[in-house]
Parts: sequence; C-alpha cells; structure tokens
Amino acid sequence: MSSPKFIKVEDNGHLYSIDHFSVPRHYEDSIGSILIPHGLIADRIERMARDIHEGFEGESMILLCILKGGFRFSQDLMNYIGAINCNSGKSFQIGLDFLRLKSYTNEESGELKIMGVDALESLKGKNVLIVEDIVDTGNTMQQLLKTLDVYQPKSVKVASLLLKRRPDSTGYIPDYVGFEIPNKFVIGYALDYNEYFRDLNHICVINDFGKKKYAI
Ligand code: 5GP
Repeated sequence: MSSPKFIKVEDNGHLYSIDHFSVPRHYEDSIGSILIPHGLIADRIERMARDIHEGFEGESMILLCILKGGFRFSQDLMNYIGAINCNSGKSFQIGLDFLRLKSYTNEESGELKIMGVDALESLKGKNVLIVEDIVDTGNTMQQLLKTLDVYQPKSVKVASLLLKRRPDSTGYIPDYVGFEIPNKFVIGYALDYNEYFRDLNHICVINDFGKKKYAI
C-alpha cells in the first residue's frame, strides 16, 4: 500500500504544550497549543523539495511565492531545492516572483484580492511552481489558477504546506502538500491572525483569548 502524499494530522492527534517548546513571550497567553513544531515543518519541507526536484523536467522553474503567508515556506523550500541542485546529477535554475493575495479578516473568508498582477505577464512560457501556505476551501487556489491560465505559462504546479480538512472543501488538492490538518484556524510560520503571529516558528492553534486580543 502506498503512503498518502502528505502527513495527516488527526483531529484528536497529539498537541504539544507551549511549555515544552520556545515561543515568543508576547504570544504565550494567546496560543492554545502547538500543532506542528518547527523542526517537523523543516524536515517535511526537505522531503517535499526532493519530491518536487525529482518530478521537475524543465530547464528552469519560477517559484511564485504567495505573500504573505507563503514567505517562510518559499524561502525554506528554495533553500532545500537549491541544496539538491548542488548535490545531485540534475540541476535547474530557480527564478522567484511574488503575488499578494488577501481574503481573510479575523477568521472570516472574504472576496479575493490579487495584488502584483504585473508579475503574471512575465510567466508566459515558464514552468511555474505556486508556493502557498494553506489551502482551506480551495477557492483561492482555484481562482488563482484560472487567472494564471490567461497568461499562458508552460506548466503550473502547486505546493501548499498545509491542506485543511473541511466539509465544504471544493475538493481541490495541490500537487504537493506538507500536512493535512484539522478544520481549525492556525497561525505561525508566517501564517497570521490579523497580521499577528507571523513571527512564531511553530504552526499553532490560537486560543479564545488570542482571538479577542488580536481581533480588529
Ligand atoms: P481558501 O480559499 O482555500 O478557503 O483559503 C485560502 C487562504 O485563506 C489562505 O491562503 C490563507 O491566506 C487563508 N487561510 C485559510 N485558513 C487559514 C488558517 O487556518 N490560518 C490562516 N492564518 N490563514 C488561513
């Protein structure tokens, strides 16, 4: 039997206490628990880099980082793919571009805004790897893929660090997924709650106090 293409974090799976890991002191009162410690995130991304590298057949790749949440994942993924380029028989150039998407206030999903659309014109004929922090319902990624199509890239793949288990999911599954997670609002490793918690290394679940403290 082959393994699923991601690590499944179960609904009633192990949660780590913030007493056992380092978290910024200013967030200690607002984190419920740690869902994925930073070391595990790093180890998983190293393997995702290998899978992406093995599956890629072009001469160059544009890594399209979706800001702001995809920033840390993109950086770590690029470093790991870069290391494989230095140490294996196959090597390809990696270019970098950025798009900013915004669709959430508090925990509510709103209308999708794409900023930096100029970057899309330069993607014509290129092999693009979209690097995203999380796919929740899948609506954002499906809209983005449709928009991207208009600019005629040669190929498009999507790597998302997280995929949420949602009953109302569109069914969209990215090409590369780090972890499938429970239907909870998560923060950390560049994922925010109203711009807070990006400076937290672990992926965590916010508590009710934190939701109120950082609500807008
Ligand atoms: P979707 O369109 O797939 O429902 O939502 C995707 C976007 O919603 C993500 O790119 C991310 O910005 C935001 N999002 C969804 N779930 C979460 C979450 O649990 N935490 C954070 N910080 N953002 C989320």
